[in-house]
Amino acid sequence: MTTPKTMGQQYGRRSWAEPWKIKMVEPIRMSDRLTREKAMQEAGYNTFLLRSEDVYIDLLTDSGTSAMSDRQWAGIMLGDEAYAGSRNFYNLEQAVQEYYGFSYVVPTHQGRGAEHLLSQALIRPGHYIPGNMYFTTTRLHQELAGGTFVDVILDAAHDPVNLHPFKGNIDLDKLQALIDEVGAENIPYVSLAGTVNMAGGQPVSMANVRALKELCDRHGIRIYLDATRMVENALFIQEQEEGYEDQSIAAILKEFCSYTDGAWMSAKKDNLVNIGGWLAVRDAELFDALRNLVVIYEGLHTYGGMAGRDMEALAIGISESVEDDHVRARVGQVRYLGGLLTSWDIPIVQPVGGHAIFLDAKRFYPHIPQDQFPAQMLAAQLYLDSGVRSMERGIASAGRDPQTGDHRYPSLELTRLTIPRRVYTQAHMDVVAESVKAVYDARLETHGLKMVYEPKYLRFFQARFEPV
Ligand SMILES: *Cc1c(COP(=O)(O)O)cnc(C)c1O
Repeated sequence: MTTPKTMGQQYGRRSWAEPWKIKMVEPIRMSDRLTREKAMQEAGYNTFLLRSEDVYIDLLTDSGTSAMSDRQWAGIMLGDEAYAGSRNFYNLEQAVQEYYGFSYVVPTHQGRGAEHLLSQALIRPGHYIPGNMYFTTTRLHQELAGGTFVDVILDAAHDPVNLHPFKGNIDLDKLQALIDEVGAENIPYVSLAGTVNMAGGQPVSMANVRALKELCDRHGIRIYLDATRMVENALFIQEQEEGYEDQSIAAILKEFCSYTDGAWMSAKKDNLVNIGGWLAVRDAELFDALRNLVVIYEGLHTYGGMAGRDMEALAIGISESVEDDHVRARVGQVRYLGGLLTSWDIPIVQPVGGHAIFLDAKRFYPHIPQDQFPAQMLAAQLYLDSGVRSMERGIASAGRDPQTGDHRYPSLELTRLTIPRRVYTQAHMDVVAESVKAVYDARLETHGLKMVYEPKYLRFFQARFEPV
């Protein structure tokens, strides 16, 4: 058993620690096995249906679970709760303009609110929207607007052991083939995501987005960026792409955005707030349309579903999120957990991505067929073992094909351990790793699940299961 490298050693120097200290704590405790068994049964083997009180270490998601800084909390007290023209909106607008470089900003209550507006404004029935692997809410909003999502990510992204450093890249040949087949006029935009969540948090290279822009310019196709985890993507560019090693995260982020026509954001991720989102574009006419749509679905164009205080915390969160030390500590913690699991030969998606460790349930439970939800069961077993909450990213998340009504069978069947930003310590990561090891050691005694309740949309959130 090799000792994993400390965070500092990964960067070839002496160990260093998180660039913050803890000022306020929230007690957590591990319950006993019997209590957890009861809770899991009541939750229908779906970790989304557990009560947070029954969870010990919560790695369900990094969405809205970040710890805010003292400066952000101070910003909360500066909330200007005017219905229209709150000063906090202008601070938010300025932060997005400064760090992401887009001219026009529309606030939304969270990421899917922004996806809804962009999809409604640009997609018509019969349109195709190519993207680097789907994201659940993104694809659904594209489909609800009448579009068809087409995955044009590199093949490597679907292979959990392929070590390509930029597995999030768009395969330009696949995109060209789609353009040839359906015509550029039927492609309203390319839906490009930074550190692709469903692929394991895999980054996109600067070279790829530059080449993508060239191709899209030739055909008059726009590029919109899912910027949810674009800051983390910038770290991978800084570390792995020639010419960027001396550039700041902020500079890399801004250059990357400069190749796109706009972006939408779930501010609950990179931007270090518990709720919020935004949509930003360069095109004044599109902005006009979006600003009109936002009042129907979210709220006035100067709050979009957020309180003034939320917008202030978000504006401050944006500036903190691009600090190099912050991003390095954040991704460093993910890599620390990944290093432990790798040293114990536990199958995870490699290379380790930006926000989470993805356990490869197909290799973890090779004896459980995919339609018996191995990744769902793995999440349940982890919870039963230690109260650690993770989530499924496999066949349940992939849903059904709208045409045939059959399950989609994704090549990746994963259980995600998502690390909240600035929340847990290295000791928490040790406890998580040891629990994964215990579940791995008991893998052959574990069997699959059957789905006994299935909601129509985004079924993974509310579906219920029973052991087969
Ligand atoms: C979370 C997420 C969204 C949706 O954002 P919400 O704030 O949850 O509505 C969109 N895209 C990606 C990549 C995400 O991770």
